[in-house]
Amino acid sequence: MRRVVIIGGGAIGSAIAYFLTRSPEGERFEVTVVERDFSYRQASSALSASSIRQQFSTAINIRMSLYGIDFFRNLGETLRVDDDVPDIGLVEPGYLYLASQAGVDVLRENHAMQKAHAVDVALLTPDELKARFPWISTEGIELASLGLSGEGWYDGYSLLQAFRRKAVSQGVHYVQAHATGLRRDGRVLTGVRLDSGDTLDADVVVNAAGAWAAKVAQWAGIELPVRGRRRSVFSFSCPETLPGCPLVIDTSGIWLRPEGRQFICGFAPSEEQDADDAPLEVEYEAFDSFIWPSLAERVPAFEAIRMTGAWAGYYEMNVFDHNAILGLHPDCDNLYFANGFSGHGLQQCPAAGRGVAELIRFGEYRSLDLSPVSFERILENRPLVEKNVI
Ligand SMILES: Cc1cc2nc3c(=O)[nH]c(=O)nc-3n(C[C@H](O)[C@H](O)[C@H](O)COP(=O)(O)OP(=O)(O)OC[C@H]3O[C@@H](n4cnc5c(N)ncnc54)[C@H](O)[C@@H]3O)c2cc1C
Repeated sequence: MRRVVIIGGGAIGSAIAYFLTRSPEGERFEVTVVERDFSYRQASSALSASSIRQQFSTAINIRMSLYGIDFFRNLGETLRVDDDVPDIGLVEPGYLYLASQAGVDVLRENHAMQKAHAVDVALLTPDELKARFPWISTEGIELASLGLSGEGWYDGYSLLQAFRRKAVSQGVHYVQAHATGLRRDGRVLTGVRLDSGDTLDADVVVNAAGAWAAKVAQWAGIELPVRGRRRSVFSFSCPETLPGCPLVIDTSGIWLRPEGRQFICGFAPSEEQDADDAPLEVEYEAFDSFIWPSLAERVPAFEAIRMTGAWAGYYEMNVFDHNAILGLHPDCDNLYFANGFSGHGLQQCPAAGRGVAELIRFGEYRSLDLSPVSFERILENRPLVEKNVI
């Protein structure tokens, strides 16, 4: 039986563990997940905005999220453990992308790509937008794109726990420990060193260490272009309700969505201000100086909001091209990467988990070909450009 050690027990590591052990037929694996913090205080999977969309610009991201929504819709049954039926609270009010004149061509191009993959999405003129969402200001908007189904949000922490519980029920062993290095024999890794001084013997190692994945790669002498990039999320209350409010991506770059009876929102800092591994402290000043004024311009009812809380987490940003990096690196025969999801890893965890499990089991993808997000594109300097990164 091959021994698989997965470094990182977030949504990605737990999804891989689940898919590797779900089939009673074929090769069996002894799977150990090494996770340094079972409370997941800094894990992106627990600090995420936990949303899912089909409105990407590349075929591979669309296909991964189409599988993601299908998996989420059936998750209760798929990840049930005896009478424990997990509920991640999936709702599907859609994503609403707003475009000024400058963004119209890209929105139309993306729309054509999404339609070619049977995504349930519609373009709206400003009048149609206003008729559908009377609470929005259409000032400066030329065109909008609304997901009619298959897009929405859920609870990311529950998703992670559902994968983890199911994986454990299938025999996966979770160890609370800090991985500190790799044991290597030529092109092959033979073990994972722990802070306890022990080494876990391994035939296969998986790097699922999220924002900290570059360090794991370094132990194997591999440069992985993934950095922790801080993102702040603010929650706020508003005296008015906004009927049918989807996840809105404004032309300012700010996103917002309902969360229970409140709202949450966030923004992407400019590339120059986006430091690597900044401390996980909320950028409060951004709320007053930039976010609130922009929110109130787009939704006049937001002039009367009150901030009720905030948190910060890391995007595990692939600084090469903002997309996942999956599979082997040519310098090492048994270290699998599942990293760099750059803000869309929760929705991609079912597709990535299934794909990496297939690579380990069969040496190839059997269901969805994820080779467009392999390491080769980086080594050959062929970026996979995704225009819709939030
Ligand atoms: C604010 C925010 C909003 C987001 N919004 C969305 C969204 O709307 N939709 C979406 O799809 N995605 C979103 N994401 C991205 C998504 O949350 C991540 O892509 C996803 O959670 C990555 O999962 P992961 O398992 O790779 O990482 P993590 O959840 O961070 O798990 C990695 C784990 O590895 C462990 N670890 C690291 N190093 C070691 C080591 N040496 N030894 C042992 N353990 C180690 C860590 O403790 C951690 O628990 C968002 C992220 C943030 C921060």
